[in-house]
Amino acid sequence: MATEQKQRLLTGDTPTGKLHLGHWVGSLENRIAMQDIYDCYFIIANVHAFTTRADRPQEIRQSVLDIMLDYLSAGIDPTKSTVFLQSEIPAIAELTFLFSMLLPYPRVMRNPTIKDEIRDKDLGDSYPFGFLLYAVGQTADILAFRPEVVPVGEDQIPHLEMAREVARRFNHLYCGISSHTPDHEQLTAGGLLPIIQPVIGRVRRLVGTGGPGANGQLLKMSKSLNNAILLSDDADTVRKKIMSMYTDPNRLHPTDKGTVENNPLWIYHDTFNPDKAWIEEAKDRYRNGKIGDVECKKRLIEVINALLEPMRERRKQFENHQDYLINVLEEGTAKANEVAEVTLGLVKKAMQQDFFNKKRHVTFG
Ligand code: ATP
Ligand code: MG
Repeated sequence: MATEQKQRLLTGDTPTGKLHLGHWVGSLENRIAMQDIYDCYFIIANVHAFTTRADRPQEIRQSVLDIMLDYLSAGIDPTKSTVFLQSEIPAIAELTFLFSMLLPYPRVMRNPTIKDEIRDKDLGDSYPFGFLLYAVGQTADILAFRPEVVPVGEDQIPHLEMAREVARRFNHLYCGISSHTPDHEQLTAGGLLPIIQPVIGRVRRLVGTGGPGANGQLLKMSKSLNNAILLSDDADTVRKKIMSMYTDPNRLHPTDKGTVENNPLWIYHDTFNPDKAWIEEAKDRYRNGKIGDVECKKRLIEVINALLEPMRERRKQFENHQDYLINVLEEGTAKANEVAEVTLGLVKKAMQQDFFNKKRHVTFG
């Protein structure tokens, strides 16, 4: 099928660290499966990384390259998919400003993911204004590409809901679409921006290796929280992380009765171990104090290493080729700019600010 006929897919990552198992089950696994079917765009959102680490530009730079390497190792194929850098897409910055007029300020502040991040990342009350703006910016990241499909983890649902609200309001104000028009009919009725559908991975929110956070609930596995098993971890690191991970805190000896619920050890087995019969039997023994944590952890180490091994093999091909990584990113960014510029032009036209009828050329290299 020609690229033009395929439906468009957009998703991405913030370069705040390396990718982990949460990314795999939350989004990456879906992306790999979908790259033959959809015209895929993957954004590396480096501008958004500055919202929490404006003082660490070198770290963000390195993380961009790390994520590129993680993508290729995980199986993203640059001959099928477009990977691009947010800071080199000027249309996204322009759309962010324009879309910020369509969302009431209290609405942004009510976004539960923003609240969770402020709490879980310990941002206190001194986070920059740009931190709030990133949620609006994400509506621009997405809508600049007018995608049909957006595969994400559960924490992104509130952001996608804002993108849906922006699109509805835009279509209503500037394309004359009645506010009663159903979401799926907005484009055929003459609206410009799609009311996008999130696609949630098979695990909505994978928990981290480190136990509960300030609210008593298990924290999500996150690049920023130091509770992640990375796709780039070697076999020995995986072993160490799993051997020292949080399990049932009340179980001190293998003969103590254990709790399976809300226990990351069993959440990981359920998520990654294909041997369901073993899991059921071992859970039963765990509940009755008839199997030790160590045995269950050893099994998990084998399972996780089997998942990561093919990625480690692919990683070897790319890891000492920074020029190649940058080249892939540059070519993807040029292609992404073409799409985003078209959207920006159409947005300005709909907003009646298209005075000069001039196509802006963005060139790279
Ligand atoms: P940060 O800690 O900087 O916010 P992160 O680990 O949350 O990093 P993001 O770049 O914010 O990663 O998220 C990229 C994508 O991966 C999003 O779609 C997000 O929902 C998904 N994702 C991240 N962590 C998990 C997780 N633990 N479980 C499921 N999906 C996840
Ligand atoms: Mg995040």
